[in-house]
Amino acid sequence: MTLTAPTPKPGILDIEAYVPGESKLPSGVKPAKLSSNETPLGPSPKAIEAYKAATGDLERYPDGQAAVLREAIAKRYGLDAARIVCGAGSDEILTMLAHAYLGPGDEAIYTEHGFLVYRIAILANGATPVVAPERDLKTDVDAILERVTDKTRVVFIANPNNPTGTYIPIDEVRRLRAGLRGDILLVLDGAYAEYVQRNDYEAGLELVATTENTVMTRTFSKIHGLASLRIGWGYCPAAVADVLNRIRGPFNMSSPAIAAGAAAIADTAHLEKAVAHNSKWLPWLEAEIGKLGLTVTPSVANFILIHFPREAGRAAKDADAFLKSKGIILRMVGSYGLGQCLRMTIGSEDENRRVVAALAEFTGARS
Ligand SMILES: *Cc1c(COP(=O)(O)O)cnc(C)c1O
Repeated sequence: MTLTAPTPKPGILDIEAYVPGESKLPSGVKPAKLSSNETPLGPSPKAIEAYKAATGDLERYPDGQAAVLREAIAKRYGLDAARIVCGAGSDEILTMLAHAYLGPGDEAIYTEHGFLVYRIAILANGATPVVAPERDLKTDVDAILERVTDKTRVVFIANPNNPTGTYIPIDEVRRLRAGLRGDILLVLDGAYAEYVQRNDYEAGLELVATTENTVMTRTFSKIHGLASLRIGWGYCPAAVADVLNRIRGPFNMSSPAIAAGAAAIADTAHLEKAVAHNSKWLPWLEAEIGKLGLTVTPSVANFILIHFPREAGRAAKDADAFLKSKGIILRMVGSYGLGQCLRMTIGSEDENRRVVAALAEFTGARS
């Protein structure tokens, strides 16, 4: 057979393209969009101001080092700025890590209901994804360790995980690190770290600082309310930061993103407001939805996983259609192996009350 068109590298056609949370309804009504774990508070007003101020020099290339942003992050968390690498969302950091450390013949492990960007990044580099089962919708350290082979190069975990909302304590993360060979890179995705209110949780900064083989990724898309600007960062061992800086686009962060991110991370009052809002409405939603006879997986993040019965008329897809008819968009998570669930982002007070009222109608009308 003659090839008549370019062929991508092996693995690429095995990728199912990431499907983002829906944002529109056919009716054209502005929906309650609770499908992508965005914050109902919006960004810090100081970030918006900094963004606008950065529009004066759009003909100039940005600072390729994103120095202002890396320094602001370093100051906020007491880190070494030289070991911070910024990216167009943490997705870019995850993608760069896979690009740098994975190739054909390599294996990379992620968990059963883990964030799907890991799978995409693994396959895109011709490596083999290995899925470790979870226990009660939680990362299971033993299951990961059991799947390590001499081909394993990278382990990705989101802690807390999306879409389950569950987490493992830092002791468990340390046990995972201790059980992995030194040449295996452990990637700790802390996209929701700021929301977690648990004494036994840490995002992993200390582990990154004290090992040569652990990276933590973070994002400005969730609690900082800057999803649209695409800002993420990784805290890395010096050698890993060096590797990422060799392969990243030389100007991968725009000037407005650098400026807005730096202002956002300095505005701790805004962050505290967002944490307080979440800490109030997360338990309220878990309780109110629980009263309707629906199971909610206990979450430490800014979203909840709601379980629906499988029977016709009451299943997750029926709930989704019903909610959409009420102008509410949650997230179907069938692609995560959770076809009986919907994921709901904690919204504004009004949005949260609307969801509970709609779910009451959905469950009541059919019981
Ligand atoms: C939302 C999310 C991210 C953030 O992605 P960005 O590219 O920074 O917007 C990363 N990891 C997980 C698990 C997420 O849910």
